[in-house]
Order: sequence, then C-alpha cells, then structure tokens
Amino acid sequence: MPKVQNYQKAIEKQERKQRLRKSKKNLRPNAVKRGPRQKGWDHMADDDWDAPGFYENERVMPRGTQSRHKEVEEMARQSIKQAGEEVDTAEQDLPPGTQQGEVVEASGEHCVVLVEGKQIDCAVRRSLLVNETTFTTVVAAGDMVAVRVNGTGEGVVEKVLPRRSLLARPFRPNKGGTSSFRQIVAANVDQVLIVASWRLPSIWPELIDRYLIAAERNQLKAVICINKIDLVEDEAELEVTLQPYREAGYQVILTSAETGVGIDLLRELLKASKTVFAGLSGVGKSSLLSQIQPGLSLRALSIGERGKNRNQGRHTTTMATLYSLNGNGAVIDTPGIREFGLAFLERHELASFYPEIARAAAECQYADCTHTHEPNCGVKAAVDQGEVSLLRYENYQKILCTL
Ligand code: GDP
Ligand code: ZN
Repeated sequence: MPKVQNYQKAIEKQERKQRLRKSKKNLRPNAVKRGPRQKGWDHMADDDWDAPGFYENERVMPRGTQSRHKEVEEMARQSIKQAGEEVDTAEQDLPPGTQQGEVVEASGEHCVVLVEGKQIDCAVRRSLLVNETTFTTVVAAGDMVAVRVNGTGEGVVEKVLPRRSLLARPFRPNKGGTSSFRQIVAANVDQVLIVASWRLPSIWPELIDRYLIAAERNQLKAVICINKIDLVEDEAELEVTLQPYREAGYQVILTSAETGVGIDLLRELLKASKTVFAGLSGVGKSSLLSQIQPGLSLRALSIGERGKNRNQGRHTTTMATLYSLNGNGAVIDTPGIREFGLAFLERHELASFYPEIARAAAECQYADCTHTHEPNCGVKAAVDQGEVSLLRYENYQKILCTL
C-alpha cells in the first residue's frame, strides 16, 4: 500500500497548505491569488504522475477527509491495474522476428538479456539510443525487451517494453555540475530491500533513512533487513534502534546468513517479486542470497569479467545485475552504488518522507518550519515527549544539512 500512503500524505500536506493559505488570507485579505505552484519534480519521469507533487496541482474539493481518502485510494488502485494491463498488451506487441527477454545487466550500449533461459549478449539498436527522454539510460537490469537474435548467438535489443516501475537516481555528470537527467538503476522493480548489518560494519541509521527516502521517491515499497544478528550482544539495544522504524510503519526483518535465522522469511518476501538489494558492501547481501538459493552467488558473471576475452576495452560500468530465483522472483544487486542520491530533494520536502515527523509538523507554529531552530515547533515537542524518536530526528537533521 505505499502508493496509497503517498496519496494520503499528499492529501494531508494539501490540507495543511489549505489551512496555511486560509490563515495567510486572513492576514493579507487583498493579496493577489496565485495558481497552484508547480513543484520541482520535473526531474522525475513523465510517468511519475503519482509523485506527491502531481496531486498537489489538482484542485481538491473540500468534501470531507473520509471521502477524499477513498477517492485517492481508488485512484491508486486503478493506476496499479493500468500499469499491469499495459505490460500485458505490450507482450503481444513484439516486432516481428523478435523474442521477449529480461535484461540481466546493462552497460551503455551493451546488455545481457535472458531469453528463454539463455543469456544473450546484446547491442542496443542505435535508434533507441537517440530517443529523447529524461533518462541517461536506455535499458536497465529488469527491463523487458524485444531481442532479435542473429546467427552467431548475439542479439540486438529492438524495443524496450513499457515499464511498470523503476528505480532511478539523479544523474551527476562526471565533470561536476548538475543535470536534470536521471539514471535508471533498475526497471520493473517491486520493492527495495535495505540490507544493513548490525555489526561489521555497524548499523548506520542515517544511510537506512537515505535509502528509505530514495525508495519512496521512486514510489517503491521498502523493507529493512538487519543482517548479522548473530553478532548482537544486547537484544535491548537492537530493539531500541529498530523500534522507531517499526513504529513509523516500515517492515523490519532480522536475519543471519551465518545461523540461518530469518532466511525462510526473507525467501518468502522475495517470492514472485523483483527486489533491489541496497546496502553497503560487506553487510552480507551475497551471503544472504546464497542462503536463499544455494548455488546462486552474486557477481558470478559480470559484463566486465566476460568482456575480458572479447570486446576488449569496452565501457564496463555495470550499475545493477539481476539474479532470477528459480523462476520465482528475482533479486537485483547494485554493487558500487552506495546511495541512490537525494539530489533535487527540496529542504521543505524532507519532513514528508518521515511519517512521524510529518504528523508532528501539523502542530508547528510556522508552516515553513524546518523543525530545527524555530519556536513552537510540534516536531521538537514530539521529540521531547518521545513520540518522535531522537534517532530519526537526528537523521532528519543530518540529512537536512546536506540538502
Ligand atoms: P556483500 O558485500 O553485502 O555481498 O557481503 P558478503 O555477503 O560478501 O559478506 C561480507 C562478509 O560478512 C563475509 O565475510 C561474510 O561471511 C560475512 N557475513 C555475511 N552474513 C553474515 C552473518 O549473518 N553473520 C556474520 N557473523 N557474518 C556474516
Ligand atoms: Zn517544526
């Protein structure tokens, strides 16, 4: 239900804004009325119509919170249905002589595609590379594509089929500066599994929050997985650290690739879904995966390694690799991506990614309160009363400083 939650959040935000607008109007009765402001979400894809900003541009009639919430839930449900239908019709829409495949990994103009259980090295048709989009990436791991396989067993990607979701991150040009383009890390993703280890390396809650924000910006469900729980010395300390996340509504699972704790639960969670594994290197992503499916190890064959004997010198930065789980679900590993990036996130938007802070912010005296130095701040009061955890509030402050 993350989409529905997003809508509800957008509605709550809208209501706060309306309250603010009303109070401002009372203060300045002759103020010129402006139209709804377009938010700076233009770096997002055109199909990100369900980003919170989109909804704010729609006039919401004051018809009672209940009925509005219902309407919004229905819209979310329909959007999911539509996305599903789109993918179905696309399947019959393969260009003649092509086969459907799933992209295992992609790197620039090359990719590896799984076609009927066989990995095929493919080039991407040039005409696709010049298509005008807001993305720097044409194909990504998880994409469904139409491939024309030639006599030598290599292929050409002729078409990228419509995506039902994607995980993208702001693109930073090598030479510095900013760009409004985004890089697609993975396509057709259902959820993000945020993997952190309790120790070695020690849990880093700020990074967990950054991943949670990135997932939500991409409208993806996020689940937190705390691995290496065999290294927990003090159960109470673990619970104190995780409680704020559970209370904020996130699913948290505890695992140990060493002892096998939580592996069945994790396997169940990954079933029939495409899951992106996000986490620092060394937290145990690879070990978890080989526990889930013995024999499957991450980074077994990358474009880089295979490129050694042919296509020497080819550009080999691979952002993500897809691993099929016995035909039932898939995991996408993202080695080398430490963060999905919070670029273009506006300071005032940050609180909306913290459900408990957003709730408490309704009590702030100032509508543009940053919950740091302002008097009569509902968030600071909630922290004092223990309703918002100090850990999450400190993470919020740290991230705010970087925006
Ligand atoms: P990745 O970089 O996230 O894929 O991490 P790896 O799976 O390569 O694991 C890094 C190291 O942590 C390896 O030495 C693993 O043996 C170890 N490790 C992984 N999971 C666990 C665990 O649950 N408990 C303990 N004690 N060590 C683990
Ligand atoms: Zn405040």
